[in-house]
Amino acid sequence: MRDPILLTPGPLTTTLATKVAMLHDRGSWDVDFNALTASVCRRLAALIDGGDEFVCVPLQGSGTFAVEAAVGTLLPREGKLLVLVNGAYGERMARLAQVMGRNLVVLDFGETQAVDPGRVAAALALDPAVTHVGIIHCETSTGILNPLEEVAHIVHAAGRRLVVDAMSSFGVLPLSARDMAFDAVVASSNKGLEGVPGMGFVLVRRETLLAAKGNAHSLSLDLHDQFTYLERTGRWRYTPPTHVVAALAAALDQFDAEGGRAGRLARYRDNCGRLRAGLERLGLAPFLPESLQAPVIVTVLAPNHPGYSFPELYDRVKGSGFILYPGKLTALETFRVGCIGAIGAAEIDAALFAIAQALAAMGVVPAGTAAPSTL
Ligand SMILES: *Cc1c(COP(=O)(O)O)cnc(C)c1O
Repeated sequence: MRDPILLTPGPLTTTLATKVAMLHDRGSWDVDFNALTASVCRRLAALIDGGDEFVCVPLQGSGTFAVEAAVGTLLPREGKLLVLVNGAYGERMARLAQVMGRNLVVLDFGETQAVDPGRVAAALALDPAVTHVGIIHCETSTGILNPLEEVAHIVHAAGRRLVVDAMSSFGVLPLSARDMAFDAVVASSNKGLEGVPGMGFVLVRRETLLAAKGNAHSLSLDLHDQFTYLERTGRWRYTPPTHVVAALAAALDQFDAEGGRAGRLARYRDNCGRLRAGLERLGLAPFLPESLQAPVIVTVLAPNHPGYSFPELYDRVKGSGFILYPGKLTALETFRVGCIGAIGAAEIDAALFAIAQALAAMGVVPAGTAAPSTL
């Protein structure tokens, strides 16, 4: 039986070729594996047009580990981080800085708005102690796309440094070192690159990283140490996720074959537009206006109907072979449908059909509302 299609923003549905790449055991000290790591890192750095100025530091763990490592390594102990928050991932970045005991200030924009560059400029002007700014490119808890380039220009003009959590937008939305200034971009294997979970990576300005020796609060999350060891030996410090690296290399081959970032963005845009339109046909309202919607995940307002419950919708849609994602908003009942992963029009249409059938069975929409499936 086919695995269910994951309409979740990572782990997500991967191709057979990506899964097959994991059918080998690779030694962490072996030259072939070291060459694979070096090649994956080079390809990742090229995706932001990093040239020789940026290096890629891979890190074991999920994306949060890499965000925590980036903040912990790049922010000096006496530095101060301004985190721009408009959802759960912004809150998480603030929380991890707080846990590691760093000076922290939060600018909160609420859950329904994008980060406002004007307010960022004002906050920086008011607080000269801020050395670094943290921003979430696509706030995956809602799907909001934040104005990264504008914020990057403001942070640069104010003489501060920028750390970008681009976890769910990396390899999908434009993010180039040629267009804007930043010190670090953090992402992971299992989102828009369509690899499997198990590693994050930080693309960081080489000179910033080399100057960051001794900043880290943690041994295993010290990116300076991870990088210098990798450069010296070609090996990861500590056991690498060998299968994950191999899967990511295969996923990058497919990424290139699809036309790189532009090709991937085109498919995800189509998935997202198709999903939003189909949900609207079912009477379900997307939470975000199109102007704020990143083509990553669609948040949907729960139907205001006594027959509706998310657990029942989830179970019914799962029975048809699709995994939905719960909402993550504090004030409103929502659910989420991801549009990233190795899925296209056929899977989106079939998912919409499954959602329609489930809602009809729950009495939320009239039977027969569903458009015919093409899968
Ligand atoms: C997925 C994601 C993360 C990391 O989450 P993990 O569960 O640790 O992989 C961080 N930030 C954003 C914006 C994300 O989408």
